[in-house]
Amino acid sequence: MTIKQLPDILINQIAAGEVVERPASVVKELVENALDAGASRVDIDLEEGGVRLIRIRDNGGGIGADELPLALSRHATSKIASLDDLEGVATLGFRGEALPSIASVSRFSLSSRCEDSAHGSVLEVEGGRVGDVEPRPHPQGTTVEVRDLFFNVPARRKFLRAERTELGHIEEWLRQLALARPDVELRVTHNGKPTRRWKGEGSLLDGGALSDVRLNETLGEEFARNALRVDHAAAGLRLHGWIAQPAYNRASTDQQYLFVNGRAVRDRSVAHAVKQAYSDVLFHGRHPAYVLFLELDPRRVDVNVHPAKHEVRFRDARLIHDFVYRTLHEALAGTRAGIVQSVAAVAAAGTGEAALAGAVANAATAGAMPASTGYMPQSPLGLQVAETRAGYAALYGGRGIDTASPPPQLPDSGDATLPPLGYALAQLHGIYILAESAEGLVVVDMHAAHERIGYEKLKSAHDGAGLSTQPLLVPATLAVSEREADVAEREAATLAELGFEVTRSGPQSLTLRSVPALLAHGDVEALLRDVLADLREHGESRRVAAARDELLATMACHGAVRANRRLTLPEMNALLREMEATERSGQCNHGRPTWTRFGLPEIDRWFLRGR
Ligand code: ADP
Ligand code: MG
Repeated sequence: MTIKQLPDILINQIAAGEVVERPASVVKELVENALDAGASRVDIDLEEGGVRLIRIRDNGGGIGADELPLALSRHATSKIASLDDLEGVATLGFRGEALPSIASVSRFSLSSRCEDSAHGSVLEVEGGRVGDVEPRPHPQGTTVEVRDLFFNVPARRKFLRAERTELGHIEEWLRQLALARPDVELRVTHNGKPTRRWKGEGSLLDGGALSDVRLNETLGEEFARNALRVDHAAAGLRLHGWIAQPAYNRASTDQQYLFVNGRAVRDRSVAHAVKQAYSDVLFHGRHPAYVLFLELDPRRVDVNVHPAKHEVRFRDARLIHDFVYRTLHEALAGTRAGIVQSVAAVAAAGTGEAALAGAVANAATAGAMPASTGYMPQSPLGLQVAETRAGYAALYGGRGIDTASPPPQLPDSGDATLPPLGYALAQLHGIYILAESAEGLVVVDMHAAHERIGYEKLKSAHDGAGLSTQPLLVPATLAVSEREADVAEREAATLAELGFEVTRSGPQSLTLRSVPALLAHGDVEALLRDVLADLREHGESRRVAAARDELLATMACHGAVRANRRLTLPEMNALLREMEATERSGQCNHGRPTWTRFGLPEIDRWFLRGR
């Protein structure tokens, strides 16, 4: 066996195996370079799903003629110079391997002109063989052309999918980009036809928020209509963005966007925290939708853990898990019946007439806003009270969770003294309550509503009492793995708080002496194993609470008013008032909506009135 140094071309092609999976990865790397160069506009021209051509043109800082060859050599980057820079890196790129990798598996050209040079220049590469720098007219900025991807790597070419599929991957990536950088204009053409255009929005809205327009264009009107604004900062962390109200949910995780310091990433721990926050309000097997931006000191997150940078590693993952969970949990607790908080509403609160008109139009379809008397149950103040009551003050010493701006002041649309859900008029088929509200007609599913109210009451009653524990008559011995036993030993105090008294009785065995009282009749051993797995992976476990909640939910369901029970008007009104006051009452325990509203403008339309 002889050991040989590999030629540069082959080294680049091997690196391309990690960085360039398909046309979408090329688009990602090149557009990220454009953004790092400060571009405010990026043109993306594609042919045949990007396989035949990807051309990315930007108006960023450009590259000088003498630096073109450097840009194409391995480990050459203008973005970091030391390990210290790497630890605090704020650019999207820093590894200096995208251009050489892409150039080694395509017919490639790089043309550019920087601000202070009079002429542009170009450098062409074919399958890794670099040509000479030549003059070429070019406006300020950079154009990269990638033709015939993998033309010299048949094994990789085989893995390319149909044009539509590859284009779909590119579009999904561009959607993420459009969400992360609303300040940048993006224009896309495919096979010579314009397919997508996101207009640049000048500056970012309040601290980097997306405008409702971008949100609409990117995730669709339904999402935008159901989105709750979240913005919370504490302990040097900030989480902001939009989460969909539970009634809007998905069969898959396709609308879950997380950006860490502006970089689109997948993170299991954050995804887990979000899922937990929704656990109480989402139908089993359904997935929440969200666009969330997490911002923190770059030194607290390692972005250099994945060649294509799809993942990051947090230095204090537990804290972040907890922060995300609590922030969203609180935001969702505010989804009380009678409150509609949509993107259009927030936009109207902040901007001029056009947006207000939009909110009014939106109110007609989504249900109108509360009238101008200022019923603001979601005001930051209200939440701050809830927050303190819940005892989060230690970690969240700062301001309250700004789940939403106050509802906009709309022109008075009716009797301002009516409560949000109005007053009951009648019962329909023993199932629904009809009520007159300031905006029109409210319809409530009385069983679903009552169930949620009962459930929330049971939960607060049990929260107050704490989890009592019940000794087992005969202690149980559990065979576990050594790792599980280690966790049990280390986390004995946490387990005790959850109601489990556990001691280690051998390298691979535990003795269980007492269990959470409420759950003593279930499969406590399986529960304990799940709890141990959670503690190992996430440092905390909400399983016991979740199992308890499941039991309480069942109790609430049996206690709830059954269909066909006649309610008197005062009974119905009492239910409406309780809904308004109950956290999460916008959806039942299974995630179905408990109420809906038809605004007068909408009802007028049914009858072609006012045309
Ligand atoms: P990285 O982005 O990790 O630095 P790349 O291989 O993607 O590595 O790019 C190498 C270098 O080429 C960058 O550091 C940058 O200086 C320069 N460069 C690449 N694309 C552009 C662009 N669109 N505009 C200006 N400079 C660019
Ligand atoms: Mg790069």
